[in-house]
Amino acid sequence: MIPLKCAAMGKEANIGKAVRQHLEMEQFFAGFAPKVERAASARPSQGRPAPASGPQVQRVGMTLEEKTAELEKIAEEVRRCCKCGLGSSRTHAVPGEGNPNARIMFVGEAPGADEDAQGRPFVGRAGQLLDKIIEACGLKREDVFIGNVLKCRPPDNRDPRAEEIIACLPYLQRQIEIIQPEMIVALGAHAARTLLNTAQSIGELRGRFHEYYPGIGRPPIKLMATYHTAYLLRNYSQENRRRVWEDMKKVLVELGLPIPK
Ligand code: SF4
Ligand code: URA
Repeated sequence: MIPLKCAAMGKEANIGKAVRQHLEMEQFFAGFAPKVERAASARPSQGRPAPASGPQVQRVGMTLEEKTAELEKIAEEVRRCCKCGLGSSRTHAVPGEGNPNARIMFVGEAPGADEDAQGRPFVGRAGQLLDKIIEACGLKREDVFIGNVLKCRPPDNRDPRAEEIIACLPYLQRQIEIIQPEMIVALGAHAARTLLNTAQSIGELRGRFHEYYPGIGRPPIKLMATYHTAYLLRNYSQENRRRVWEDMKKVLVELGLPIPK
């Protein structure tokens, strides 16, 4: 496969700023490093009773092996997909990855250059910040599932187009249906607006719980909207970082998970 080079390198050029942010990121989230026993973040089996604080949903369900196989089937479809124009400009499709039994599913906007190069979600700078946030929550990347609304990179990281979202959304909907997370964390305006079918701004949406409707006859799934980590990197104020951490603490409390001190 011939890797397609894109023209967004100039954006990455401010190395001094990047290093400073990285150091600050370490310090900021280090304060929340997990000092607790690692949280029961992945469902060990479908038979596990829901936590007392969580929704008492009877999960009739697939085994871990079945979920893994179904998710792989979707990933294979995504890798072959040409349902929108992005299929011809991508290097690699990025289906998403993580624990098929995840209680928390993070949903971003679309792959960037690093993700397009590797075929994996959130592996660039925004991804490193997401890793920090996950760690700060006392969780590991392998505990959660990480995906995107669009599975292929829009050229120059432009905003997703409506027709691309319409073409691609069924993949994410099917992933959610298989994983049946208890919580979706929508990262940024595009993910939040798409999943909630609203035009509200991320400023209005973040910081409170919404409901994602997986389909007729299915119980709604709690959704927390927060800032995208790429936005956070561009607007790396103490206030914005505090907001994201507040949002994540609400998620942990809602799931009955301990907040690392
Ligand atoms: Fe298919 Fe989605 Fe990629 Fe478009 S963005 S080609 S719909 S996988
Ligand atoms: N930004 C996203 O929205 N998704 C990724 O996978 C990486 C960066």
